[in-house]
Amino acid sequence: MATDPVCLMIVDEEDAKYTSVHKDVKYYFCCNWCKKQFDENTRKFTRISNDVCINLKEVR
Ligand SMILES: [Zn+2]
Repeated sequence: MATDPVCLMIVDEEDAKYTSVHKDVKYYFCCNWCKKQFDENTRKFTRISNDVCINLKEVR
């Protein structure tokens, strides 16, 4: 299972319809909206990739 970096939902890799690759890392999204957020703000979501959950909670 992978975590959607935008909304933090758990996404099944085998089922994922929305994915994006950034610096050889593949990201999975629950919906096209999340993928769009990621594609438009890639740096915001990837610079904290090692601890994405905690940092995203702070942003919220
Ligand atoms: Zn999502």
